[in-house]
Amino acid sequence: MPAGKDGSTTRRGGSTTKKNAFCSFCRKSYRDVGPLVEGPGDVYICGECIDLCQSILEQEQRRRGTTKQLFNDIPSPREIVAQIDDYVIGQQAAKRVLAVAVHNHYKRLALGWEGSDVEIEKSNIMLIGPTGSGKTLLARTLARVLNVPFAIGDATTLTEAGYVGEDVENLLLKLLHAADFDIEAAQRGVLYIDEIDKIGKTSQNVSITRDVSGEGVQQALLKMLEGTTANVPPQGGRKHPEQQYIQMDTSNILFICGGTFVGIEEIIRKRLGKRNIGFGQPSIESTEKDLGELLPNVTSDDILEYGLIPELVGRLPVNCALTPLNEEGLVKVLSEPKNALVRQYQSLFQMEHCELDFTEGALRSIAQRALKKDTGARGLRSIIEEVMLDIMYDLPEQEAGSKFLITDDIVEGREQLFKLPPQSKSA
Ligand code: ADP
Repeated sequence: MPAGKDGSTTRRGGSTTKKNAFCSFCRKSYRDVGPLVEGPGDVYICGECIDLCQSILEQEQRRRGTTKQLFNDIPSPREIVAQIDDYVIGQQAAKRVLAVAVHNHYKRLALGWEGSDVEIEKSNIMLIGPTGSGKTLLARTLARVLNVPFAIGDATTLTEAGYVGEDVENLLLKLLHAADFDIEAAQRGVLYIDEIDKIGKTSQNVSITRDVSGEGVQQALLKMLEGTTANVPPQGGRKHPEQQYIQMDTSNILFICGGTFVGIEEIIRKRLGKRNIGFGQPSIESTEKDLGELLPNVTSDDILEYGLIPELVGRLPVNCALTPLNEEGLVKVLSEPKNALVRQYQSLFQMEHCELDFTEGALRSIAQRALKKDTGARGLRSIIEEVMLDIMYDLPEQEAGSKFLITDDIVEGREQLFKLPPQSKSA
């Protein structure tokens, strides 16, 4: 073993007993941080710095691993759609458009990674469809399929500098949070910006606390969508001059903007030259059918007319329309996706060693109630919560092995929960 300057003997990588030693990385002393590991030539490292090094190395390995993996196996559009199908009901047209756009987006990153001369332009995506048709769900599911960080922001909270509200950079901060502050990962993530239609010039959602035309926000968003190095305030809130910023390159972030664009069907109808035939108020059913027929025809021109600035529309070249879900669709949403509401309740029951089932009639009845609310699949949750409240209240006292069947009579409040005796089969 080599002898140290003061005569003490040390091994490479062994801990030191020198009381006056200090960590060569953080400069803290033995007395403050406890045992130090000694390297050759009077170099020491403390436990905290070892942990830090470990996590830096792990992050780097993960980054290299995931980047390589991401580029090596970019799923084909067909595979992407198949995976989204597990979570999102219907919306086939939108799924196809999205899958192709996303596939190309990550191919584009791979080309950049390989240093190719051809630069593929980025295609940010615009999702148009009524509330509760699955816009957010689609964006979230995509990020899950691709295994990249995902965050949701809301365009209505954004205001131009100088007004009450948030800077657009706060949206990037959300993505950074979602990536656990791994900037590299965040820079390849998916950012979903909801309610993009509410910052239109002709929007009715104008208040005195923001720039009246919404144009300032659109300009700021535009820069981010185009690809820029943004200064992200790590604490959020308004930017101010003394603050330290995290620099984030947005050129490889996939932006998906979503909006309901209420009334855009009239713009499409006018363009297509279709007339609303008939007298009086159109019924809910017919407007829904209209929306389903008209929305898939949406073009960038319609969005322009709606009040978004041309530059922003130009930066969102991929348009996908989502159509309202009908009763059948809503029934499927209740029971088919991997984390469908029915399955969620079933697993709650399983935890109490009980079984739960819904009749087709019960599901239809819930779907019909949701249709009346006009909030798409979003309404389903509150309806089913309401139906299940009393049952969930009594559940922990039920005998293990009990089976419960929810019927339309129970959903509509005509009957209390039908409880089958333990171990017997439901009819
Ligand atoms: P949007 O963003 O279009 O307003 P969301 O995607 O937030 O609607 O949908 C709200 C909820 O409704 C989702 O969390 C999901 O449970 C359900 N949902 C909506 N559309 C679908 C769909 N097409 N397939 C499955 N679930 C859906």
